[in-house]
Amino acid sequence: MARASLEPYRTKRRFETTPEPAPRRRRSRSGHLFVVQKHRARQLHYDFRLEVDGVLKSWSVPKGPSLDPSVKRLAVAVEDHPVDYADFEGVIPEGEYGGGTVMVWDRGTYEPEDSVDVAAALGKGHLAFTLWGEKLKGGWSLVRVRDRDWLLIKRRDRYASSKDITVEAPKSVLTGRTLARIAADEGGDVAKAASGDPPTRARGARL
Ligand code: MN
Repeated sequence: MARASLEPYRTKRRFETTPEPAPRRRRSRSGHLFVVQKHRARQLHYDFRLEVDGVLKSWSVPKGPSLDPSVKRLAVAVEDHPVDYADFEGVIPEGEYGGGTVMVWDRGTYEPEDSVDVAAALGKGHLAFTLWGEKLKGGWSLVRVRDRDWLLIKRRDRYASSKDITVEAPKSVLTGRTLARIAADEGGDVAKAASGDPPTRARGARL
């Protein structure tokens, strides 16, 4: 059963200390949710997650997604997360696993190409899918290269672009906040979080 795969998620976390959710909900409304969480932990990265059989299959993407089909972004497979995690935006206390600020950077639904069995396709190391998010849309592929290392690649379509979506659209799709604002609101390390926000063009407050 897929949810037994949430054991590593549980054992890495102390739910009396972190605001992250313990596994509860078994499925989203669509059953095909995707979320990208921008996470300023020890290193800035983007956690790319697809709902598959009651869990969020997860990859850590150091540079974040690129809309340019000629750019292949490393995506390192990490432990499955509970479906409830898709709503999580806030501060994981320093010293806890993944300590730092988390933003819901994009969210929506996905559709596997040709209605394939997603778990089977991931088992074979290749999944083609369409994203319907606010920032990420159209065709994408995840391709395994070795062990936990995958590549996240935009496919050529009308949503492909050479613009850097991580710079153009840096804020939360849930709350419109920057990482620094989330940290300030929720008692996190604001300077550390701000280092994950792109430099502001305008003068003045960067929150
Ligand atoms: Mn992370």
